[in-house]
Amino acid sequence: MKSVTSPSPLKPLRASKPTAELSELPPLGMDADALALDIRRYFGTFLGRDKYCRSSHYPYQALVLALRDRLMERWRQTRYAYEEAGARHAYYMSLEFLMGRTLGNALLNLGLDAAAEAALHRLGLDLEELIDVEHDAGLGNGGLGRLAACFLDSCATLQLPVMGYGIRYEYGMFRQYIESGRQVEEPDHWLRDGNPWELERPEHTRRIHYYGRTEFYKDARGRQHARWVDSHDVLAVPFDTPIPGYRNGTVNVLRLWSAAATDEFDLGEFNAGSYTESVAAKNAAENITMVLYPNDASENGKELRLKQQYFLASASLQDVLERWELRHGNDFSAFADKNCFQLNDTHPTCAVPELMRLLIDEHSLEWDAAWAIVSRTMAYTNHTLLPEALEKWPVRLFGLLLPRLLEIIYEINARFLIAVARRWPGDSERLARMSLIEEGPEPQVRMAYLAIVGSFSVNGVAELHSDLLQQGLFRDFFELWPEKFNNKTNGVTQRRWIAAANPGMARLVNATIGERWITRLDDLRGLARHADDAAFRSRWHEVKRANKVRLAEMVRRDCGVDFDPDALFDVQVKRIHEYKRQLLNVLHVIHLYARLKDGEESEWTRRCVLIGGKAAPGYFMAKRIISLICRVAEAVNEDEEVRDWLKLAFLPNYRVSAMEVIAPGTDLSEQISTAGKEASGTGNMKFMMNGAATIGTLDGANIEIREEVGDENFFLFGLTAEEVEAARRGYDPNALIAADPDLARVMALLESGHFNQFEPGLFDPIVQAIRSPHDPWLVAADFRSYVDAQERAAVAYRDRERWTRMSILNTAASGKFSTDRTMAEYNAEIWQLAPVAPKA
Ligand SMILES: *Cc1c(COP(=O)(O)O)cnc(C)c1O
Repeated sequence: MKSVTSPSPLKPLRASKPTAELSELPPLGMDADALALDIRRYFGTFLGRDKYCRSSHYPYQALVLALRDRLMERWRQTRYAYEEAGARHAYYMSLEFLMGRTLGNALLNLGLDAAAEAALHRLGLDLEELIDVEHDAGLGNGGLGRLAACFLDSCATLQLPVMGYGIRYEYGMFRQYIESGRQVEEPDHWLRDGNPWELERPEHTRRIHYYGRTEFYKDARGRQHARWVDSHDVLAVPFDTPIPGYRNGTVNVLRLWSAAATDEFDLGEFNAGSYTESVAAKNAAENITMVLYPNDASENGKELRLKQQYFLASASLQDVLERWELRHGNDFSAFADKNCFQLNDTHPTCAVPELMRLLIDEHSLEWDAAWAIVSRTMAYTNHTLLPEALEKWPVRLFGLLLPRLLEIIYEINARFLIAVARRWPGDSERLARMSLIEEGPEPQVRMAYLAIVGSFSVNGVAELHSDLLQQGLFRDFFELWPEKFNNKTNGVTQRRWIAAANPGMARLVNATIGERWITRLDDLRGLARHADDAAFRSRWHEVKRANKVRLAEMVRRDCGVDFDPDALFDVQVKRIHEYKRQLLNVLHVIHLYARLKDGEESEWTRRCVLIGGKAAPGYFMAKRIISLICRVAEAVNEDEEVRDWLKLAFLPNYRVSAMEVIAPGTDLSEQISTAGKEASGTGNMKFMMNGAATIGTLDGANIEIREEVGDENFFLFGLTAEEVEAARRGYDPNALIAADPDLARVMALLESGHFNQFEPGLFDPIVQAIRSPHDPWLVAADFRSYVDAQERAAVAYRDRERWTRMSILNTAASGKFSTDRTMAEYNAEIWQLAPVAPKA
């Protein structure tokens, strides 16, 4: 009883072009008067509130709606300009977009910040208060998702025709609480109060197939075709969020898909007997986009996750193909010249076989013609060197859920392996190594290999990471296709991470070198010559201190710990993961605590250590490390001999809006991963831009940060990636502990139960991990050089002029780490889009 109608329930208009007239509008005012009038109108009429309203929510909504109107006009003009130019487009496909809040950024990019403040002031409202009403859009885990968000901002600013495609999760990244030193997760129902930024577009609803089987048939001319039958279908409904460029009239789109049941979904097959139960069973379909998987840098192999991945790939490709057909009919000869898909990690890799399926089964292309299109349009970005993060799906599960896709993958693999055999005749080991299917008791589809085979470009996200991929994980593929491999060092957008998050610094920079850095971050170089000017340093110091006061207020509120703004603010915020080594950080704090307890505090630098980040709910060790941080924090902060000299706080619920306060208030940025494990890092760049010095290993983009700022302004420690590999052989942490009295003292405190007096054994797993000769993260190996580097940082901080100089020089050298540079490189070397400016 499947319906044959289009998935959209909306009727098309009968007349052919009736909406041209309908969509003409005089431009909206960009001054405080026009804004104030619109805010009043939305508040009183559309939202229907009156003078008795006491909730900040409605003034917030009214302001956003007034801004959205202004985004809509620019969005329409941008669309028309792209359309008229016949522009080549890139599509950024990502299971995660960690957008955070939108209001402050939209005001900044529209150039409406001053007008909005004035308008609100007139209405008796405070902009800061309304900014705080907005929930973070937490549709991502960490760096990978935030990168996607920064990319969109830079693409719109560069006026590149780039569209984001993702999933509109009902529940984003969980909210983290700490209860008795343990992480507790709560669902993040971020849409509960509505989301005034988004626009539903049910007219572009797509139909997604799952399960079922393939049926082969012959057409009228006797050609063999395949079709996917007896499938269970789900609808994908798009919601669009406008992405404004910086004061340039461009507004791009982020399109997020939400799952909905088809009307026929369960009524037919499942519950023929019961109408009400059938309607209730629609949940199964809508569950697909219910929740973001909270795993960072690891995979969990759940069927629902594969459903999400295919859902994104299929809906987005159908969307692009339908727009193509409207203009070009069934002629795909120029499709690859006009379209490019960037896969953010392997998560959207179903796009490779899905585009093959759509072109062959739905548009009747031959295999070779379809493959020529796919392999010229797909580009893949790898984000990790951790083997446990490389996605694999059991062939059995894949075949059950996506039977037609698995057939296509088999065919891609067969043709690929012929090419490998031709290049390396008789090398059957290499064939097995490179096959898209990993053989074994439970055969698996290797998604990264599928992405490489299907793509014309494969990139890593920092120089070291791209090199290690070529020498290690993807070596066989690099030998086969060296021309596919390239590096694109990550970045962050300075609009959000300086201009919006650090207005004090932005004002000082503007007054010193002008405003061009907002779109040309290299201009910050001009600050360097002011680092020797004592008056400038003093102003810089005052800005940093005010930001530290703001951060201290947050720590006071969220952790109940008092941070002294004149102490060294030493900060590590990022996902909790063993490879990121929050544990090494805590060992250093325990070391300082022990020194204070043993009366070694001559020439002391007062230090406030802040650690924050979420642990994946099923990640035992990460959660135990959070407990250790919390217990050490209690011991340190409650000890009268210690607390004036040293503080430790665990900041709960680390997220984008928290980082907007944290980065500007940080002196020392902790980037201490085991070398060769952090692909790039982007937190490191946000801190650097905001004038923090880095203490870090030679890992990811730290290497490039140090190159830019110079060794004298960077606190380097630890083994290199090469040394890490060598050190694994014959690693003996117990000997290292015995030989280093400082480390021995720290371990003795840990092992004595000093930090877990009422929970014996709580930290045994941590002690065992440090003492294990198989510790992959080599915590003990880097302890000595880490403590020494921390001491150098402490000494440097005691000399305020020296430290402030270093802070200025870090900001001055951060120009490379703008996503404007990253996007320009993606565009020059992968996408090759022409910028298009909308009509003024
Ligand atoms: C920047 C950012 C990250 C990435 O931090 P890394 O230190 O690079 O791991 C993660 N989460 C949030 C909220 C961020 O803003």
